[in-house]
Amino acid sequence: MATFNFAAGPAALPGPVLKTIQGEILDWRETGQSVLEMPFTGEAFACILGETEADLRQLLDIPENYCVLFMQGGAYGHSALVPLNLFKHRSRADYVETGHWSKRAIGEARRYGTVSIAASGADCDFTRIPPRETWRLDPEAAYCHITTNETGEGLQFHWLPDIGDVPLVADMTSDFLSRPLDVSRFGLIYLSAQKNVGTSGLTLVIARQDLLDGALPETPAVFDYARQAKNNSKVNTPPTFPVYVAGLVLKWIKQQGGLKEMEHRNRRKSQDLYAAIDGSGFYRCQVAVEDRSWMNVCFNLPSPSLEDAFLAAAEARGLLNLKGHSAIGGIRASLYNAIPQEAVEALIAFMDGFAQEPAGG
Ligand SMILES: *Cc1c(COP(=O)(O)O)cnc(C)c1O
Repeated sequence: MATFNFAAGPAALPGPVLKTIQGEILDWRETGQSVLEMPFTGEAFACILGETEADLRQLLDIPENYCVLFMQGGAYGHSALVPLNLFKHRSRADYVETGHWSKRAIGEARRYGTVSIAASGADCDFTRIPPRETWRLDPEAAYCHITTNETGEGLQFHWLPDIGDVPLVADMTSDFLSRPLDVSRFGLIYLSAQKNVGTSGLTLVIARQDLLDGALPETPAVFDYARQAKNNSKVNTPPTFPVYVAGLVLKWIKQQGGLKEMEHRNRRKSQDLYAAIDGSGFYRCQVAVEDRSWMNVCFNLPSPSLEDAFLAAAEARGLLNLKGHSAIGGIRASLYNAIPQEAVEALIAFMDGFAQEPAGG
């Protein structure tokens, strides 16, 4: 039976990437060594890291004055490391609260300084992104933090806020590389790789170099961004295998036609699924139409017991990992770059059938 994996993360990888990993796992490019057993200081890994960074810079057209760091810790870890690295001169920052992951980032930042909630979607139960004109920004803040895609609630920024001279910092874990991006609009971007860039263990940080002029003294050496930048992400052992996987994913994106093509595909997949939900009279998506995520399509059935039946019937048909975030519930179909249009079509066909005959599923 063909299966389609709609997991939120770690998420599906492109089939050709998995095949390449399988083919190269015992011997990488005839070096006589597996990627799993390469010294991180050696020539072979230098080649992998160099190609990966070069491909990322090319895909996103990353300006010269930005560094790219290949780190560990996860996006949740880096939601604490960002204030540790940016609070040296001013220990206060603005945060836009849009859902689960921005709330977690706020909780971490509060350990290290003063967090001001510039705007919040709490009063509408995180069903829309607070419009820019409602934000109350501190012109003296060290930075302003947003979460470009809320993976749990399924809402996404489809615009970039203009915030003047204060650096914009973004957790971009669940929509990075899903479409073209103007990196120069940001002071710093961080993300875990396991949603749309590869597998778990790798956290990417892209930062404007002038912002990295000294972390708080309590910052661990391996999590000091300036130090990692100076040492080419090799202050300690970088996550070598996940870097390799990310490199293969970047090459796959390039072969597919780059970020414009990803945008085209992702827009279409999500539009088709939202149209099926809205037209069903059975499924419901609470998120405001203009803020709906292209990456994580979240919806409900008329009751939690129907949702359980839906998940069981979907799994029996090979439609896997559709359960919503544990803190939020409902159904969530994650449609990252690796999810083909045919997966969405199979899901829609199943949903149409289930809506006709929910008990028989
Ligand atoms: C998954 C996710 C995280 C957490 O990533 P970890 O690698 O588990 O730390 C943080 N932010 C967003 C937006 C996410 O989707």
